[in-house]
Amino acid sequence: MQTFYILKTKTLKQDKVNVITLGCSKNLVDSENLITQLRGNDYDVVHDSDEEDPNIIIVNTCGFIDLAKEESVNTILQYADVKNKGGIDKLYVTGCLSQRYKDQLEDDIPEVDAFFGTLELPGLLAKLNADYKHELIGERITTTPQHYAYLKISEGCNRTCSFCAIPLMRGKHISRSIEDLVKEAENLAKMGVKELMLIAQELTYYGLDLYKERRLPELMNALADVEGIEWIRLHYAYPSKFPKEIFDVMASRKEICNYLDIPLQHANDAVLHRMRRQITQAETRELIAYARKIIPDITIRTTLLVGFPGETEEEFQDLCDFVADMKFERVGVFQYSHEESTIAHDLEDDVSAETKVNRANRIMAIQQEISADKNEAKVGRTLKVLFDRKEGEYFVGRTEADSPEVDNEVLVEAAINYVRIGDFANVHITEAREYDLFGDVVHE
Ligand code: SF4
Repeated sequence: MQTFYILKTKTLKQDKVNVITLGCSKNLVDSENLITQLRGNDYDVVHDSDEEDPNIIIVNTCGFIDLAKEESVNTILQYADVKNKGGIDKLYVTGCLSQRYKDQLEDDIPEVDAFFGTLELPGLLAKLNADYKHELIGERITTTPQHYAYLKISEGCNRTCSFCAIPLMRGKHISRSIEDLVKEAENLAKMGVKELMLIAQELTYYGLDLYKERRLPELMNALADVEGIEWIRLHYAYPSKFPKEIFDVMASRKEICNYLDIPLQHANDAVLHRMRRQITQAETRELIAYARKIIPDITIRTTLLVGFPGETEEEFQDLCDFVADMKFERVGVFQYSHEESTIAHDLEDDVSAETKVNRANRIMAIQQEISADKNEAKVGRTLKVLFDRKEGEYFVGRTEADSPEVDNEVLVEAAINYVRIGDFANVHITEAREYDLFGDVVHE
């Protein structure tokens, strides 16, 4: 959350833009592309800044679920207030929320100078008298630490999961070409990026629109060939009709992390059917077993959705049993949010808010024990760690099993260990907690 400015007097100084990003890593990539374009047009741009001198604010919103929408609206309102007090000159809003509720927002928040949808970057730039520079495509300025970056391989989603509003905001699936993505990865590697997070609403669909066949395995191989990229990890794969060759590439290329983020949403067949997930629990179990057979040390991250319309205690218990049994390495839980214009909106949102919270907590309690056991098993091992930052008394990094922001971390005491941020080091693990590991750097 930003701090908000005190009243200031307008000056004739050059324009300065502050881009505020809310929501997920896909939105962050959009902000990075916006920043790249603005800098290419000689704009002075900062990101998520508390500085008081930017006179133009662009809020890149999220509209995923109720909580995210609330945060986006509150952020816009806070900057509208700053504008009313003369603290800024212009306020623009872009991103998912703006795409979905543009008309309503225009009526409700007149302080905003203009709203733009998710695919309207050229229009937003034009409003700032900036050109959309095609030559800058693939030359993204990142806002993440220098050694890692997100690489968005496609936009939109062609699936029809009944609870999901994303296709309403991001449209149909559009894959970027392998050539473009490799070029972008090469540019990122030249800037010092060592780790790429491949992101999309739905990774496994990659290529079907553009090449008329699934091409994620080919893309993974092409990116693994990029000099300087040492870790590539996969985020957001849809489980139904999963292209299993992905595991072969993962097994054969050391650059592809043994890591898969595969949101399963639920495990009870009746709920999966109502969610229109096109998969059963038996098929899901078969897929996970196959992944673990080909890649025995694979880290599987999943996200689950509790409180879907009509979810009975029995159906929820089926999910709990599944989580306890599957022992995923990482689990995140969302509570169902009743989103208008989705297929599920026709159903009754009949699981109470209290029950949703309770069910989410119950899943996380099961997972907490699993995570603690899995971490405990790492004590005594030496793991390759990429260091992200120094925090207090510790250098903090991640193993191949951990993605930034969402997964576990490895901490080494700064007083007795020497590491450089952005470098890999081998760490002997000496202590495990539920979600984090502690250890000491091993020097060759
Ligand atoms: S695959 Fe993911 S993004 Fe696509 S509709 Fe389903 S939940 Fe939404």
